[in-house]
Formats: sequence, C-alpha cells, structure tokens
Amino acid sequence: MSNNTLGIYIHVPYCISKCNYCSFYSITEGTFFFTNYIEQVKSDFITEIHELNKSYTSATFYIGGGTPSNIPSNELSCLIEFLQTYLIQRNIEIIEVTIEVNPADYSIEDFQRLKKSGVTKISLGIQSFDNDELTILGRRHNSQEAFIAVEQALQCDFTCVSVDLMYGIPRQTPTSFSETLKNSFSLGINHLSIYELTLEEGTSFYDNKIAKYDEEKAINLYQQMLLLTSKHGFKRYEISNYAKGEEYKSIHNLNYWKQNDYIGIGPSAVSTVGNRRATHQSSLKSYLKGERSKSIEELTPQQLLFEAIMLSLRTTTGTEKVLLEEYRQKYMSISESKESTINQELFREKGLLQENKSMIFLSNEGFLLYNEIIPKLI
Ligand code: SF4
Repeated sequence: MSNNTLGIYIHVPYCISKCNYCSFYSITEGTFFFTNYIEQVKSDFITEIHELNKSYTSATFYIGGGTPSNIPSNELSCLIEFLQTYLIQRNIEIIEVTIEVNPADYSIEDFQRLKKSGVTKISLGIQSFDNDELTILGRRHNSQEAFIAVEQALQCDFTCVSVDLMYGIPRQTPTSFSETLKNSFSLGINHLSIYELTLEEGTSFYDNKIAKYDEEKAINLYQQMLLLTSKHGFKRYEISNYAKGEEYKSIHNLNYWKQNDYIGIGPSAVSTVGNRRATHQSSLKSYLKGERSKSIEELTPQQLLFEAIMLSLRTTTGTEKVLLEEYRQKYMSISESKESTINQELFREKGLLQENKSMIFLSNEGFLLYNEIIPKLI
C-alpha cells in the first residue's frame, strides 16, 4: 500500500434489530429499499470520485454498517462489480474488498457469489460463541450459526476471514471468554478484531444503566487475550487487531491509521481528503431522496499533525519521534512541552511506552491506557 491508495467506505444503514451496545447509525424499521439505496450509492460514488482533485493508483473497499449482509448477495455482488469496474476503467487497482457479514445471513452460495465478485476479506460479527452472552448483547445469531458462518466463509477461499469478538460483556467469565477465543482459533481464521465493550450514549445498555464491567476483571480478560492470541500465532498490529501474517492485515484500516485519503459513501459516512473532512447527514430518508447534505470541516495543520500522531500510536509501529517533537515546538507552550516530555519519560519508565532510534510506540500495557496516555503527550 502506498500513500496513493484511496480508501472507500460504503455504509449500509440497515439492521433487522438494534444490538444493545451499538451506537452506529442504522435503521431497523420500515421497508428496506435496497434497490433504491444501491442506485443512490452508485450515483454518490461517481460524484465523490469526480470531485477528487488528486489521482490515485490503488483503492480499497470496505462495506460496513449497519448490516451489509441484509442485502441479498446477488444485489450486493452487482454493486461491488460496478464499483470496481468504474475504478479499473480509470486505471485504479483494487487491492482489497472487505465486507462485514452477520453470521445468520448468508449461505455458502452467497459467500461463493461474493468471492466471485471480487471480495477478498470477510469480517464476521461474531462477538462471542456463548449463547447467553449473545442474548445479553442483543445479537440475533446464536453460537451454532456463528460456527457455520465461519466454516462456510473459510471454505470459499477468501484471502482473509476475520472475526470480531468482545470482552467485558456482562456476566462474561474468564472461562467463557477463553472458550470464545479457542473456538475462533480452532476454526482456522487468520485475523481477529477484539474490542472491549464500552457503554456508549444512545445505546440500550446506556439507557438501561447497565453496570460497567469490573475494571480488574476486564484487565484479567485482556491479559488472557494477549496470552492466547500470541500462543496461537496471532500478532497484534493495532490496539484491537491481530493477524496471523502480514498478508492478513487490513489494508483498508492501515490506510486510515496512516492518515491517507478516504471517502465515505452513505448516511453518516465520513470522507477525509487532504485537509477537507466531510460528514454525511445521518438520515437515510434524505439520502434516498438524493439529498446529500454534508457538514464540511477544513482541518488545520495542528489538527492534522495531532491526528497523525494519535492514529499512528494506535498501531504497534507507533509514531515518529520527530512528529511529536514538531508538535511540541509548534503547538505547545514551553511549560506544556516540558510536561509532555516529562510524561513521555514517565510512561517509558513504567513500561507503557517503548522507543527505538526513530519511533515511539505503546507496549501491551500502554495500549490498555491509550485514552489516558494520548492527552498527556499531545
Ligand atoms: S452491532 Fe452491527 S448488527 Fe448490531 S445494531 Fe449495530 S450495526 Fe446493526
């Protein structure tokens, strides 16, 4: 991937039901007008590509949501083929096509169809292999459906099959979490995304004041996860992402963390091209009427540098020391800069930050405290 790769995210804002922890924009009621939606996405995509004032040699697609697998696979495949053909005709190479799939939705024939249309990576929203935990989360699939979905996706020879898992689920225990991890390993997947459950505003968990998972117990689960992922050959490359080899890392997501350009298609999707950030209105109704209202923000050099440091510190490669130094010199007062330097040294002594000649990166213990460390450095 070069810095001349364009990331393209397509948001599919439909869910059959709302999971209890989810704050993403999606609708669950009314009739799902997929055909109309797909036509709007195509036209939005063409407009966005024409508005770009830079040329790109390659692109990645990521179709997420919501639930892309609510769309019948034949319609989704046609959309994917359309988008790819459009770029190939403009000499842009497609280097990755990822689609998020809900376990209960697709059969092996659907996966085969997606593979044929150019999809390279399937990301399955499993979250847990424990039926009680799935019920608590409000997921509409069960453990058996999760097994079947992973097995079927693996049979179709995608470059990568990834599963999303969660820790810190109410009533989750070290045993149930380790079973979930072991089940994932035994199936033979090559990529894992593991997130700690957070109680976000606007979710059912938040509204119902579900108690936060005990912090110490969550740390135990985290340590268990580090041990088991490494024992089974998964290498962490970002706070929440683990791959069994270089070739399985998410190129699309690495593109974000390297601060390369991306466009977002669909309600609530965000584009950042150079210093211009555009956020689509979170309204499917308006989107279907062809009203593409976006809020536009021009990012300042300070914001861009701040984001470059913050995003790169999410990865195990970390950030360049010169960037942090530049930020201190240009945007911090003498006392703030001094404090940031002292904090950096403290974090290093505590084993939260590590350094080599040119880079600074967080340790596994540091990743756990990412949200606390960042404001103390920049
Ligand atoms: S977690 Fe996924 S499936 Fe569940 S409501 Fe959110 S977007 Fe929909």
